[in-house]
Amino acid sequence: MVARNRTGVDVDTDVEGVEQEVSTGSLPGWDRVEELVHAAHERYRDHAGGTVADYIPVLAEADPAWFGVCVAESGGAVHAVGDADVEFSVQSISKAFVYALVCEEHGHERVLERVGVDNTGLAFNSVMAVELHDGHPRNPMVNAGALATTALVPGGSPAEQWETVRTGLSRFAGRQLELDGVVYRSESATNMRNKAIARLLESYGRIETDPLEVVDVYTRQCSLRVTARDLAVMGATLADGGVNPLTGERVVSAQVCRDTLAVLASTGLYERSGEWLFEIGLPAKSGVAGGIVAVAPGKGAIGTFSPPLDPAGNSVRGQRATAYLSRALGLNLFASSVHVPERTERGS
Ligand code: GLN
Repeated sequence: MVARNRTGVDVDTDVEGVEQEVSTGSLPGWDRVEELVHAAHERYRDHAGGTVADYIPVLAEADPAWFGVCVAESGGAVHAVGDADVEFSVQSISKAFVYALVCEEHGHERVLERVGVDNTGLAFNSVMAVELHDGHPRNPMVNAGALATTALVPGGSPAEQWETVRTGLSRFAGRQLELDGVVYRSESATNMRNKAIARLLESYGRIETDPLEVVDVYTRQCSLRVTARDLAVMGATLADGGVNPLTGERVVSAQVCRDTLAVLASTGLYERSGEWLFEIGLPAKSGVAGGIVAVAPGKGAIGTFSPPLDPAGNSVRGQRATAYLSRALGLNLFASSVHVPERTERGS
């Protein structure tokens, strides 16, 4: 029997034939991971639910059938199925990695002063969330906080900041990421709301540089082209203490990974973050082009891509596939079982 859960996160909570595995500290062997990634793809490939985003006009042209699933292990193995190499714009998922780069540059305290780490409980592009807190952005994963974060990217000009973002995200991915000019132009022509949010932040003294230039760098960062495979490798870098498991390059420190993953756990799926953590138990970030990355610290990451979204802007097939893999691979951070071996004796 497949029961529909009661939270807004679109997953099956009672999946026939799938054991709720408990985290062992490591992934099962290569063959088993490969088998389960194929099973996740097979299981949800024909699931028809959700709507492709169209508030950025060009996104509406995406094929709703696209579906890619990829697991990258922190040991470097990569398991990719379906449309895992189709490129799409990273959108809000960029926020997680730009935040990590900015924390690496400025440190925990300085970034925390500028951008909080609590959920807004409101939509990702909410203006009210800014107004309710004296212009202090609540977290870096909603647009207000992401704009304030992008404003902190090192560089003497917007062009230099953009280069820092592009090379930084490319290091997470382990390959050179490119701008999707069509998506960039489409969003630039329609992003009045983000411009309004940036102006509002300026009015509160939370952005010191030109707010429209900040929006431009932010719009570019959202328009970087990635694949589900890239998302898995980028996430696996956060799972691997900041070292890219494919290139061996250190991108950020282990502390920055810890901070970023904590923020993702509480805010990565917008106003659905609590429900996501409750159902899936992993820090994650979604984007409106249909990508999701979920990170299992120490083990690896899941990257998924499928354009149809739920009302909060999270990919429907992506949520289902991630939930399935979290359960079947034993990734849920909160799952434990009774410790059966001999008890630790007092004084031992
Ligand atoms: N570029 C998009 C925006 O700012 C990103 C939103 C998203 O992926 N949720 O509206």
